[in-house]
Amino acid sequence: MEENFLDSFKGKIYWIELVTHLQCNCSCRVCPTARMLDNSAFSTDEMASWLANARKVGARGVWFGGGEPTLHHGLVNAVKTAKDLGYRNILLQTNGLRLAYDHYLERLSNAGLNMVSLSLKGADSQSHDYMTRVPGSFELLTEAAKNLVDEKIPINADILVTSHSVRHLRSMIELAADLETASVTLMLVSMHGLDRKEDHHWLPEPQLLSEHVEAAMDTALSLGLKITSLHIPPCLLAKRHRENYFHAGRYGLLVVPPSQEAFMAETSPTEGGNYLEQCQSCSERQDCLGFSSEYAQMKNLKNISVL
Ligand code: SF4
Repeated sequence: MEENFLDSFKGKIYWIELVTHLQCNCSCRVCPTARMLDNSAFSTDEMASWLANARKVGARGVWFGGGEPTLHHGLVNAVKTAKDLGYRNILLQTNGLRLAYDHYLERLSNAGLNMVSLSLKGADSQSHDYMTRVPGSFELLTEAAKNLVDEKIPINADILVTSHSVRHLRSMIELAADLETASVTLMLVSMHGLDRKEDHHWLPEPQLLSEHVEAAMDTALSLGLKITSLHIPPCLLAKRHRENYFHAGRYGLLVVPPSQEAFMAETSPTEGGNYLEQCQSCSERQDCLGFSSEYAQMKNLKNISVL
């Protein structure tokens, strides 16, 4: 079925994200999948089929996500299949817990894994474990980073920006540098899939966000770390950092969940899609995905200046 479906994406996708399943060994406070009772998962054959058909229409990178992909029993096989099919970039997006076990990482590495995005939720064990609700998760994550360095697999740190982490972004960048990550992606928390109004307190206030992201970007650059902002539009970045904004459409990423239709990353409500009145005259408009719907309603956003 996916073969015909993928025909329309010929030449348009570089990455395919396989959302292996939705189970996780953390229960992060801002994660919608942690609240879902959805047991859907790809079988090993289904993953192989998507990988083969996506390659035929030009995909060169595969991104294994979830849930927590390292809990999927077919992950090592799927990585090996991707390698055999000629995928150039084979990326795992993970909380890192299972990569603390070096024999498991070695199996993934031998199968062909060549990039890892580790999810940082705090600058230290107290704040990280508070968000994951798993005592010891920070310690395992730092162990995972050491193992990845030993395996010579480049690490990207996905830093989740919330009202809880925003004041600690600089320290999180310093931590990423200590863990020898090659790059950092700032990801603004999304309320997509979190239906309760009381969750909205996790959204950082715009002024505070701007201020701390500026300091974090300065720190990253001074430490030689490449830094990218997803979901935080150029108007909230200092002028000198605006080139670090990344429109999710530039990935050429088709996201394939096990229980829903596949979609291009930039069409997800998580990536934005909501604009303010002043966006109409903004010079960045063409390359900007705007705000998530909840963030677009933040009252202080009305005060941001038009570029
Ligand atoms: S288009 Fe709107 S959201 Fe994007 S940078 Fe401009 S003012 Fe900000």
